[in-house]
Amino acid sequence: MFKKAFVEKDILNSKRTKSILEKISYKKLEEIERIEDVFGRVKKPYLQKRTDLNLFLGRKKGELVKIAPEAYGTKGDPHYYFVHAYNCIYECQYCYLQGYFHSPDLVIFINHEEILQEIEKKINETEEGVTPWFHAGEYSDSLALSHITGELPIYFDFFKDHPKAKLELRTKSTNIRELLKLSPLDNVVTSFSLSPNKSIKEFDLKTPPLKVRLKAIQAVYEKGHRVGLHLDPIIFEEDFENSYRNLMTLLNEAIPIEKLEYISLGVVRFSKAVFHQVKKNYPDSPLLAEDFIKGNDGKIRYKRPMRYWILNKLKEICLDFGANQNKVYLCMEDED
Ligand code: SF4
Repeated sequence: MFKKAFVEKDILNSKRTKSILEKISYKKLEEIERIEDVFGRVKKPYLQKRTDLNLFLGRKKGELVKIAPEAYGTKGDPHYYFVHAYNCIYECQYCYLQGYFHSPDLVIFINHEEILQEIEKKINETEEGVTPWFHAGEYSDSLALSHITGELPIYFDFFKDHPKAKLELRTKSTNIRELLKLSPLDNVVTSFSLSPNKSIKEFDLKTPPLKVRLKAIQAVYEKGHRVGLHLDPIIFEEDFENSYRNLMTLLNEAIPIEKLEYISLGVVRFSKAVFHQVKKNYPDSPLLAEDFIKGNDGKIRYKRPMRYWILNKLKEICLDFGANQNKVYLCMEDED
């Protein structure tokens, strides 16, 4: 799978490193001082991920737990994200990772205990009665490689002992084998990002088909895990309303919509850098034919009335399917 595995010297002999290396194939192993000395140092085109992928293993340094941007999650609660990987095995055409790192190579961090220490500090700083949320998967997919990375039980153990905090695992994956081995916790939510089948086929390259994702959602729900839903990014299409009604009908067969912990809705948007990459990487993509504008903040998206129409229409559809009004939240942006 990987051309080279670069491993930081300090963790070369750790049990966790060995376990990961045993589960993957690579042509050559190279010992390095620090990931940042090599990863992204020479710009590597994003689409080389198709043929020429390296893996980096190391310790995450710097700020391990960060405050999440506005509108990241349920209103009124503090939201944080933590990072235990960079980059993703999938290839969604709108993915913001295209413009983020200088390389599509995968990076896996293994110092989960240090990340959890920081999470614990944030929990201890939180006022009584307030629920802090911690989101995994900001720069990667939370489940796609979980059978290799093996961190899920570590996070479940921690959150079992910290019931006042919540963990969200965001995914487009159907790799639920490791998750299903774990006893469900009320404060751990696996949230699936879904789009109508046509959009998945067109834009979410290399991700599992809708049918398989729905089966995974059903299995996770039936095992007793909490399930959330992200309808994000929403990409407008001619038959928009029908497509989403069909999607909700199918989803309702996998999990009753009212049982979803939350539904988050967000319309497709790009930074200037990412949009530039989309044009370069996918010049024939129907995404580029969309009616986008550039806002004052430099973000590229649909015009404001269209965004609001889409979000409100989709909220209406979710409510029609039995979603609780308080559990549907909209990723609203106030810029033009
Ligand atoms: S699943 Fe998420 S992180 Fe992976 S390519 Fe798609 S948008 Fe990017």
